[in-house]
Amino acid sequence: MTGSPRSAGSLLDQTIAEIKAEFPTFRIVPKRGHRLSKVIDVLLRVLTFGAQTQYLTHYHTVLGNTLYVPEKWDATAELDRVITLRHERIHLRQRRRYGDVLMAFLYLFPFLPVGLAYGRARIEWEAYSESIRATAELRGYEAAAAPSLRAHIVHQFVSGAYGWMWPFPATVEKWYETVLQGIRMGTDKTSGRSGDPRGAA
Ligand SMILES: [Zn+2]
Repeated sequence: MTGSPRSAGSLLDQTIAEIKAEFPTFRIVPKRGHRLSKVIDVLLRVLTFGAQTQYLTHYHTVLGNTLYVPEKWDATAELDRVITLRHERIHLRQRRRYGDVLMAFLYLFPFLPVGLAYGRARIEWEAYSESIRATAELRGYEAAAAPSLRAHIVHQFVSGAYGWMWPFPATVEKWYETVLQGIRMGTDKTSGRSGDPRGAA
């Protein structure tokens, strides 16, 4: 968060302020120079047999109420940073909902640390649903439905990126379609637009 020009009231600042209002100790810290991030990076390389080598350079990680960001953070487009923050805010809420111990257990263990990790897949489904919704809101429905974004997100579930957490592309595709359908119909449960106000006045 240093070195970037800040215009008061920008969407990015607004999003960070909202998260801080909800989680007062929230902060953003670069992974570079953070010892635990380096340890996790090495562990992931080992656990995924070398399939996840981008932890420090491409992935954002919430530990406690701190978001650890890769080097490219400051150079990332503002809207993309907002979309990422909305994904990570879901993880902050999950941690508040489940507590540290259950969150770590859900994320790391069931059913296996690598492959078919249902708990991790469910946690990421919820967060990636928010990524898709945020993309639709900020970049338009077409961007959320774009094959490139869909392929990228499906890849996160079926590849070694998160330890093959749910290696069934058809299931993830179906889930993606459900999220898009929710956006199209405007009945998505977290969109805050559940009722149709037409005809009320
Ligand atoms: Zn996530």
